Parts: sequence; structure tokens; C-alpha cells
Amino acid sequence: MKIETIDLNFMHTQQVIASFLLLGEDGAALVETGPTSCLDRLTAGLKEHGVSQGDVRHILLTHIHLDHAGASGHLSELLPNATFYVHEVGYPHLVDPSKLVKSATRIYGESMDELWGEARPVPEDRVVTLKEGEETAVAGAVLVAHDTPGHAYHHLAYLEPDSGVLFTGDVAGIRLPGQSYVRPPTPPPEIDVDAWVKSINHIRKIDPNSLWPTHFGCYEDVGRHLGELEQRLQDWLLFVEGQMDDGAERDEISEELRAKGDAEMLAEGADTTQSEHYDLAGSYPMLTDGLMRYATRRREKR
Ligand SMILES: [Zn+2]
Repeated sequence: MKIETIDLNFMHTQQVIASFLLLGEDGAALVETGPTSCLDRLTAGLKEHGVSQGDVRHILLTHIHLDHAGASGHLSELLPNATFYVHEVGYPHLVDPSKLVKSATRIYGESMDELWGEARPVPEDRVVTLKEGEETAVAGAVLVAHDTPGHAYHHLAYLEPDSGVLFTGDVAGIRLPGQSYVRPPTPPPEIDVDAWVKSINHIRKIDPNSLWPTHFGCYEDVGRHLGELEQRLQDWLLFVEGQMDDGAERDEISEELRAKGDAEMLAEGADTTQSEHYDLAGSYPMLTDGLMRYATRRREKR
């Protein structure tokens, strides 16, 4: 199996959202579709790699957020032989995206169309649900689904055991090419830091050779990467809780978190231009909303 990374050029910016094209003896597969707003770029990418629309047999989705799976409905029309694979909790939203679109509209408002484009349903008979450990034969290889909640309840990572490649969706965070910095994507409404840390430990047990985050690329310093993600996830949660205790409001907390995050990036040798690129995959106001919501719910439970 050969892996080609299709850069979806999200918001005219390179290396923010990837779709991974797997090529092998029995046709082609995709991990992630990207949003409908990047559909032309995705179909052009298939063409560039000599893949016809009938060649794509499998589309594996890590979760159903619009930046990862938003183009699924359109693709079910364009790629007649493709079966879609998704976590069982994500399934209802793939075959009827109306609720998902409604909740995304609450977050993104008037930018919905520019960012994501239209989300159409995928016909039920084109979708297969996967659970922990289930295998799918794709593109001359086998991919094993791993249940990895935290960023979303319904999140799967996909391992190719022979190469040790792990497609991590958002569970291994956001990391852009040339950078060591890992930003935890913590949008509302589902983030669960405890579950996320368990998923990071789950990935450590899987012991992959490389991590392939959708935002963006491929990294081999697996232990360091996961360590940084776990540490920052816990640290940012405590930071946001502390700000809430001090009576700070959301916008203020978001700005404080940005200042903290940017300082951490600088310390790792990145600059603030990089921060803007990371923002396209997970912006501070959104990350703050998710962490505040999680912190509030956690307190209510105590
Ligand atoms: Zn994402």
C-alpha cells in the first residue's frame, strides 16, 4: 500500500487539511474527505494520482466533523463504488447531517458556507460502522479501527499494522509540517479530557511507527509528540479552570490562552504566522469554549 497526501488547500492555505489517498492492488481508498468547500481540490488530487472516480472503493472517516467528513454526501454521488466507514455513534449524522449542520451553524454562523460548504446525506446502504479492533481490507492492505474518544465521542484512528502507520484524525492533535508544536483541538461540545488521555495511552499501547494527523502530515517522533499533547491538554484545562475561578469571561480567557499558546510555540522555535495556520484547524475562541464547557460539566459532577 502506498500513501499519497492530498493537500485540500483549505481556505486557500496549504497544509491545513489532508485527505490521505491509499493506493494498492485492489483499487484506492481515502482516509478523510475534507469539507465540501474543498471538493474540487480533492477530485483534482485523485486525478493527479491517476485514480478514476470508479477506482475509489473505501472511504474511512475518523469522525464526522465537517472538516473531516463534510464532503461525504457529495462524494457518495461522485464515487459510485465507494463504501463509507464510520464509528457507530457517528453513523446517524452521516446519513442525516441536519443536526450536525445545525450545531455547526451555532458555532460558525454566516461563515458556514465559505468554510465548509453544503453537507449532503450519505445513503444508508453505502455506510459500514466499525468498532474497536475491527479490520477492513483496503488498497491491498488491512486497516484496523481503534476507538479513540476525547476530541469527539465517536472518533476512530486507523492502523496499518505492517507499516505501523496510524491515521489519527484529531486524537493526536494538530501539528503542521516543519513544526514540533502540537496544539490540542478542543472544540465544543464533546471534548472529554479524561477520555482523551486514555486514548493517548491506547495509542501508546498500539505503538505505531508514525502518526498521520489530518491537520497535517506524518510524524515519526511518536513518543515525544504524544507526551507533548497529553501535557498540554492537561495544562490548558487547568489554565482555563484557573481563569474561570478568577471570574474571567470567555473572550478574555481566549486571549490569555492565545498568549500562552503563542509563547509556547515561540519556545519551540515556531513563529506567530504559524499560529494563524494552526488557527485554521482549531482557533482559540473555539478551543476555549470547549475547555470551559468541559470544566463546567466536570465541576457539576463533583
Ligand atoms: Zn479537525
